[in-house]
Amino acid sequence: MRISVIGCGYLGAVHAACMAKLGHEVVAIDVDERKISELQAGRSHFFEPGLPELLHEVLQTGRLKFSSNIADARGSQVHFLCVGTPQRKGEYAADLKYVDAAFSSLIDALEAGNLVVGKSTVPVGTAARLADDLLERFPEATLAWNPEFLREGFAVKDTLSPDRLVYGVPSGEDGHRATEQLDEVYAGPMGLGTRRLVVDYATAELVKSAANSFLATKISFINAMAEVCDAAGADVTLLADAIGMDDRIGRKFLNAGIGFGGGCLPKDIRAFMARAGELGADQALTFLREVDDINLRRRIRVVELTRQLVGGSLLGKRITVLGVAFKPNSDDVRDSPALSIAAQLQLQGADVTVTDPEALSNAKGRFPELTYEPDFNAAVTKANALLVLTEWDQYRSLSPADLASQVTSKNILDGRNVLDPVQWRAAGWTYQGIGRP
Ligand code: NAD
Repeated sequence: MRISVIGCGYLGAVHAACMAKLGHEVVAIDVDERKISELQAGRSHFFEPGLPELLHEVLQTGRLKFSSNIADARGSQVHFLCVGTPQRKGEYAADLKYVDAAFSSLIDALEAGNLVVGKSTVPVGTAARLADDLLERFPEATLAWNPEFLREGFAVKDTLSPDRLVYGVPSGEDGHRATEQLDEVYAGPMGLGTRRLVVDYATAELVKSAANSFLATKISFINAMAEVCDAAGADVTLLADAIGMDDRIGRKFLNAGIGFGGGCLPKDIRAFMARAGELGADQALTFLREVDDINLRRRIRVVELTRQLVGGSLLGKRITVLGVAFKPNSDDVRDSPALSIAAQLQLQGADVTVTDPEALSNAKGRFPELTYEPDFNAAVTKANALLVLTEWDQYRSLSPADLASQVTSKNILDGRNVLDPVQWRAAGWTYQGIGRP
């Protein structure tokens, strides 16, 4: 099929490359010319494992092209909207200005029979509003909403073989045709057994908000248990292992630590609360405010634990933060708890050095005041405390014996509970986990 992808960020660039991999002819469009020239040259403007190799492969076939001109979407049969939906400044609600602008700019490029497919995460009701708009401005095209569930770090795999596909389509003949068009787009993954659900617009939009709310709640639940474990002298990792053995609960997403962040969960649960309020259903989601509060409290707690770890005062203490991306295998620092903790420690008088395998330049763009050190050994030298805040593999496998001679004080805070306290303590370190005695 001939496909256009509007918006080439973390979602759109991967989607475009994967659609070309599935055999489609793809034009991927972004208003940011720097991103377009990087992608056209086969380089990804962000870190995502497997994406550079995939770009290289599909660019060679000639099936993938990049453009900064929306007019180049003309001739495509299916148009995916993949632009950002950030939190509005000073509010909980999502800012839909990029979705609205991209949608409007696309109208002139549409042809009869085209399908416009929203992939961005939007408040429920957005698709119905845009469908009405489309009916007025170009009734020969149809709108569908196909929320995206990819995980950064696994984005290529998640796009080529997703857990499930959700199509939000209108009722009647238009809906049947939209479903057939999307089935053709996703014939590859469906042939491999990916399940697909066809629902109405509102349900499709809510599936995404509900899924992210559930994941955020699971993380905040175990972090709340960590708070109680701290107070009671219990171990939250053993507690998580034990409750996770119950199939109904499951062990995934039960890792206590510094909490969730990134470009999705925090803003999506807030936008969901705001939208529920507009719909008069705010009571249903008041628990999400608590989920958000528990999550933000983690950051304050880690600052306090660090203060205790270095003897009661942060002033002048050399603290090294290992990992600043919001999760490993990503360079994304949007709402990163690690970056927020690093900044807070610095504001409170510590001398903070941050290292990370991929996220330093993004972090520097947000908090230029911190010291960024790409060389791991230089970063840890003479530290009064090391803080593992993003669980990159290289930090999980650190050797307490090797590090001992480099630091000034053998203090380590394990913000993701990924190190073995017995091993670190045996090597003479003061080990501090989260919710662990
Ligand atoms: P992003 O900020 O990385 O990318 C958005 C891109 O859209 C940017 O490159 C921007 O320049 C471009 N853009 C903005 N206006 C445009 C326009 N009018 N025309 C063309 N391009 C335009 O954001 P993202 O992380 O890729 O997220 C996009 C959407 O996908 C959001 O709604 C997000 O919630 C959702 N989502 C993201 C992920 C993820 O892991 N990042 C996963 C699932 C869903």
